[in-house]
Amino acid sequence: MSTKSTGKHEACKMRGQRIRAEFAASGLTQTAFARLHGMRPDRVSRIVRGLSLGQGGPIQRKQRPEGPEYLIHPETGCWIWQRGLSGGYGAHAQGLAHRVYYERAKGPIPEGLQLDHLCRVHACVNPDHLEPATNAVNTQRGLCAKLTPERVVQTRERFAAGGVTVTALAAEMGMDTGQLSRVLRGTKWANVDGPRTAVGHTKQQALTMDQAREIRRRHAAGDGTLRSLGREFGVSSRCICHILQRKTYAEPEAP
Ligand SMILES: [Zn+2]
Repeated sequence: MSTKSTGKHEACKMRGQRIRAEFAASGLTQTAFARLHGMRPDRVSRIVRGLSLGQGGPIQRKQRPEGPEYLIHPETGCWIWQRGLSGGYGAHAQGLAHRVYYERAKGPIPEGLQLDHLCRVHACVNPDHLEPATNAVNTQRGLCAKLTPERVVQTRERFAAGGVTVTALAAEMGMDTGQLSRVLRGTKWANVDGPRTAVGHTKQQALTMDQAREIRRRHAAGDGTLRSLGREFGVSSRCICHILQRKTYAEPEAP
């Protein structure tokens, strides 16, 4: 082993030791500690359990069970899992947390179907944000999360060449128009090439800003679920969810 890599290894061990000591002294949950230090909770978990960055310092064998299992996001209504994650999904002793919560609230998941997060927040365990879907539908809905750099370039080129609307392209790709607009403008995937196109908001929007505000107000007041509001306003539950998360129809920033 070269001196350089030994030095790097030592530096990692020291860093692990420091993080474990800070965590032990903080009295925080792993999730809170991770948030405070801008780290991923599963990363903190691995470090404090001694599975990453060496074994020096106070090692915790088990994550402390104190604190709520989830916290409710005030705007989206997502129940954000506060314990360990598995592949981005909440990990519960009885399986994946969102599946456990869904089955508790709504009964068994029909055979052959998997649960789709209508809110697209994988750590969310709110049964109302989950819907059993076939694998194909779920993959289709999830495509937005599975964009690759190549696909982004292709999509930008295709749109810049003309002949297709954002709405049509979004439907084809199983994406939300707002999300696709951001990809085309370069707000999303900014580090990837491909022609940028400024996409106007007004043409693609099926709702007015006032309607979006009304949806947020009603949801905050507990008057309507994602699904019932979607039905009422003639859009998908997912669209409602994006409005609540301000991914779409965000208020213009004050100058
Ligand atoms: Zn959710």
